[in-house]
Amino acid sequence: PSGKPMTDLPGNFADDVALRPKYLRDIIGQRDVCERIGIAVEAAAKRREPLGHVLLDGPPGLGKTTFATCIPRELDVSLQIASGAALAAPKDLLPYLTNAEEGSVLFIDEIHRLPKAVEEFMYPAMEDFRVDITLGEGVNARTVNMKLRPMTIIGATTRSGLLSAPLRDRFPVREHLDFYSISELTRIVTINAKKLGLPIVEAAAEKIATASRGTPRIANNRLRWVRDYAQSRADGEGTLVVTDDALSMLGVDQKGLDPQDRKYLTTILRVFGGGPAGVEAIAHTLNLAVDTLTDEIEPFLLRSELVVRTPRGRKLTAKAYEHLGHSPPPDESD
Ligand code: ADP
Repeated sequence: PSGKPMTDLPGNFADDVALRPKYLRDIIGQRDVCERIGIAVEAAAKRREPLGHVLLDGPPGLGKTTFATCIPRELDVSLQIASGAALAAPKDLLPYLTNAEEGSVLFIDEIHRLPKAVEEFMYPAMEDFRVDITLGEGVNARTVNMKLRPMTIIGATTRSGLLSAPLRDRFPVREHLDFYSISELTRIVTINAKKLGLPIVEAAAEKIATASRGTPRIANNRLRWVRDYAQSRADGEGTLVVTDDALSMLGVDQKGLDPQDRKYLTTILRVFGGGPAGVEAIAHTLNLAVDTLTDEIEPFLLRSELVVRTPRGRKLTAKAYEHLGHSPPPDESD
């Protein structure tokens, strides 16, 4: 249920449409980011210029796509959506650039996955709204210059540290999305329960918020599950008891950690003696891709201070030992 089609944008896009905020004012939390982007948007609209390119980074499910879809609506311009993973060569990016209407937005998700050649092809498009196209081969090769309509590129990445400096520098607006507080998530759950037609009590909404790893997408997924459970096993009401039962069926614990989080922590504990352990070794043991670990699982656990990064690898904190019901090693209880 906490699904992972977050790399597959169109599917995720369609699925989320009903619950996704439409305008900046509908976005819950991220107040500072909203305000700064709102100012940039308004100023661009007043100047009748395209908005400067925007880079959004942060763990999956925190609202990067949401911002990218709200911004063109605010500007009343069209939006094209592409994914860095699918743009293998400059020719894959070219149609997006040439199709872009004046002032429109091109959203590139997972922009850190753009191959170098595509990235470099994009530089003049971002700077001067032109592309350099090479025609022919060998001695007959020549470069032609093609003008583009001025537009805005919004890039999203789970880790801006993965971007090359030249690419990062071409985004005048750079924003980092952080995890949401329980009260922000409670508001999101309450609003979305209404949209999904699930009557829910405040305490149950807060329970779902607590079980959502600080992440709106997970909150929405948990909420959908609670609705299914309430309709199938109860009388369709989101009471606290129903919500508790539904969440415990998912294996979510009081801290909101899911089975995969706990498996990560117990692996470091049991296999690596509490760490430090290298991220590759942990990923291999869990049979997961390193990227999945660093982009999807670890950020919330680091933020919750259950694990720390040391030069020699990941290490459990005293808090993690306690959460797993173990006493920490005597010399390291802090
Ligand atoms: P990302 O692109 O960072 O992976 P998304 O923008 O797809 O995340 O967000 C996932 C879902 O979470 C959205 O469909 C939306 O329903 C919800 N969501 C994200 N951010 C917010 C927010 N600030 N307020 C309300 N809902 C949000």
